[in-house]
This record gives sequence, C-alpha cells and structure tokens, in this order.
Amino acid sequence: MYIVMVASECAPVAKVGGLGDVVFGLSHELEIRGNAVEIILPKYDCMRYDHIWGLHVTYEDLWVPWFNYHIRCTVWFGFVHGRKCYFIEPHSNDNFFNRGAYYGFADEHIRFAFFSKAALEFLYHAGKRPDVIHTHDWQTALVPVMLCEIYRDLGMGHIRVCHTLHNVKHQGIAGANVLWFTGLGRPDYYYSRERLGDDFNPGAINFTKGAIVYANFITTVSPRHAWEVRYTEWGYGLGHALYVHQSKFGGVLNGLDYDAWNPETDPAVPAHYNADNFAAKRHNTRALRERLWLRQADRPVVAYVGRLDMQKGVALIRHALFRSLHQGAQFVLLGSSPEIGINAQFWQLKHELNDNPDCHLEIGYDEELAHLIYAGADILIVPSLFEPCGLTQMIAMRYGTVPVVRAVGGLADTVFDRDYSERPHAERNGYVFHQADNHAIESALDRAIALWFDSAEEFRELAVRGMRYDYSWNRPGTEYLNIYELIRHK
Ligand code: ADP
Repeated sequence: MYIVMVASECAPVAKVGGLGDVVFGLSHELEIRGNAVEIILPKYDCMRYDHIWGLHVTYEDLWVPWFNYHIRCTVWFGFVHGRKCYFIEPHSNDNFFNRGAYYGFADEHIRFAFFSKAALEFLYHAGKRPDVIHTHDWQTALVPVMLCEIYRDLGMGHIRVCHTLHNVKHQGIAGANVLWFTGLGRPDYYYSRERLGDDFNPGAINFTKGAIVYANFITTVSPRHAWEVRYTEWGYGLGHALYVHQSKFGGVLNGLDYDAWNPETDPAVPAHYNADNFAAKRHNTRALRERLWLRQADRPVVAYVGRLDMQKGVALIRHALFRSLHQGAQFVLLGSSPEIGINAQFWQLKHELNDNPDCHLEIGYDEELAHLIYAGADILIVPSLFEPCGLTQMIAMRYGTVPVVRAVGGLADTVFDRDYSERPHAERNGYVFHQADNHAIESALDRAIALWFDSAEEFRELAVRGMRYDYSWNRPGTEYLNIYELIRHK
C-alpha cells in the first residue's frame, strides 16, 4: 500500500510530544511490512536538522492557492532515520514556520490550515496518489475536508483518509476566514452542524469535527479513551459527533518504537541491559544520580518525565515529589510547560529543593536525559487527569521501571495493578490508582516504594514482567493496516 502521513510532528526531527513518536513509529512499522510510506511536515526553522539526512529541494515552485492569491512554497526532501520526509517551506510575509517554536501563536489555525492545503497541493502537483492519507490531530484535520470537497474532482477521488485523534482537548476552533483562505468558501454550507459547525460555538467552525465527518475512519489512541471521548467529559464537546459516526471510529493503542527505545542498544544509556541481565540497570541509576547531583544512596528513584500541563496532574506530581521524599525515596523530574504560571511554580519548587541531595528538577526538554531517567529510575509516576494513550508508562516498562499510574485512557489499558488487578498475577506490571487526589496517589506510590524496600526480589520480578510485555508497533501496525484495507475497499 502507498500511505502518506500528513502531520505537524515527527520524532525526533520535530517533536513536542507523543504525536511525533507515533508518526515516526507507525511509519517505520508500516514500511517494515513492505508498504511505501511518506511523511509530509512543515519545514520549521527550529527542527532538529541534525536528524535529517540528505536534505535537498525536490519541488521548487509549488504555488499554493490562498485566499485570492498564491503563496510560493519550496518542498524539501530528506531521510529522518530512514523515513522519507517532505518538508514544506512557504515563502510569505506570514513566516508561518520560521518562528523559533512549533506551536503557540495567535494565528495557529491559519498556519496549519495553510500547511494542510499545501500538503494536498503538493500531492496533486507532484502526481502522488496514495491509497491512504493518514492525518493527525486538529492541525491536519482539514485535509479530509479539502480532499473531499476540492481535490476529489481533480483525480484524487480514490484516496481514503484515516484521521487519528491524539488529544481532543485541542480541536482547531476558528472563524470563517479559514474557509475563505483555503478556498472552501461557502460558510452557510460548512457552518452546518452536520459538517464543520462547532456544536457549542454557533459562530465557529471546528477542524476536528470536520475530520470526524469527512474522514473514512477515525481512531483515537487507546480503546479506553475511545469510550471516554464518547461518553465522558473527556470528549471536550465532540462526544456527540463521535457517537453519530461511531461505526467508523475505534481505539488503537499506540505502539512504542522498540528500536528508538531499547535498553540493549540505547546510545544515551551508559550500561545496556535486558530482562535477563536486569542487574546492570543499577549502573544507570548510579549514572543518573551523578548526572543530576543526587547522593548515591540505597533508596529507590521515583521519576516523572513529561509535559507539565494541567492534563498531566501537576498538583499530583508535586504531591508525589514530597510523598516520595517522605517515604525515603529520591525524586527526579524532567518537564516543562508552555504555561508561564506552571513553569514558574516548578522553578520555585526547584529553588526550594536546590540543596536537597535526594531530589532534582530539570525544567526543559532534553531527549537524552529522558532516556537516562527511564533507564536509571526505579518507579515512574503518570498521575494524569486524562491520558489518551500515554507513552511514558510504556517506555518505563520497556526499561524495567515500574509505572504508577492513574486508571484513565491508555494508562488503564497498559498498566495492571500488582495487588488489585482482575488480571492473572503473571500479567500485572505496575501500580494503579483511581481518584485524582493525594490519598489515591499515595495508595499506589506507597505500595511501590514499600515493595522496593521490603522485597527487592519481588520488585525486580514486577519490573521484569513489564519488560517482557510487547508494547511495540507490532500489534497496532496490524490494526492500522486492517483499517486501511477496510477503507480502501469501501
Ligand atoms: P503527550 O503526547 O501528552 O506529551 P505522551 O506520554 O504520549 O505525552 O508522550 C510524551 C513523549 O514526550 C515521551 O516520549 C516523553 O519521553 C517525551 N517528553 C515529554 N516531555 C519531555 C521532556 N521535557 N524532555 C524529554 N522528553 C520529553
């Protein structure tokens, strides 16, 4: 099959969160299985250019219709760790992707509406006719809309679209100007609630709603979350639309790129190890302590890696930090927040705890340090308020680090409580709590820390059990191919 991913992120070249990991990992898996996969991305100035090989111009003058004029784009091609990537570079005063950051601008909807339009124009003019286009989140949600309404009549009618919802909190709510800019026009038609009309803002169109209506199949990133978005507040207003279209909606658990996340070969990890050689992990704990100025002590290291966003349960992360120290553990945190208030709060905490030899907060984004933390920590907390899939708990298990998670979304689908799960003992791989309050996280975290102190052997068994799980792209790869096959023949 010929598959084109259109996305705003792809790890490691342009990654903000799990979306980037998924685009890379799924593409890799599909290629291993003999499919032709290409990825279309914006050409951001702030990308990790050191991860692109052979970058060169492949299409010189792509004139993208935009409102009543055209914007000239250059399309670049390069390999990102073997993946074929096209990068679209617009030349206009809007400077869409030369702003030193991936997201966070006032004209966000215009930027990504333009990218979606440019991606389709590129496919059209370059004569590329994939069997399936796979789009991701609101940034590329207008692709199925424009494909159906504009490009279908230009010889692209057979192309099918699968759209994945990674985080429905962000949906792309905009005004009619987007319709005029993209050439869709006809506000009366698109404002209908059967099309792009937002269910709660009568004066707005909703990009994600558009994808739900127009895509041939919609997925979200775990089966539990597929239920949550339809029936709970975590649908952020899209529950009804997803319910209406549920015959073409399903949850596919994300996979992990087992090459990029491999404790046996990871270049960012000083001592390589696997489930049969688990003892070597302690060298990484030592290295982690050295790197973060923690004292070498006979205590477990509890870690948090991830965005410091309300979604991630910042109050619970903070509580877990103090609770871990109270219970005699060490605590390390790696994360940052685009929200000034949250960032300031954690900087304050960092200053307060600066002299504590059992605690380190690293505020910022650091891919290599993240690898060392997964390899060196004993316990990883993920106390999210909601979590569509969550990768950090799966990475932790891959590195023999025991996850302590809240039972939401993909966390509930991947982590099974050692003491209270309905699963057989041999399948239990971590600790789970339910309510989003301090007592609840204590009930799980305390048990994890206590097991580390009381029974090293049982703790090791639990960690090794996590390592033996297969959370690679193997299974999700098959599920996505089945979806592509299904929509191809529809
Ligand atoms: P989300 O997509 O909501 O951010 P996920 O758990 O799905 O959360 O994915 C997070 C990914 O981003 C993981 O690969 C994690 O290691 C990485 N990550 C998050 N924050 C940081 C950071 N500050 N430094 C390095 N890696 C990070």
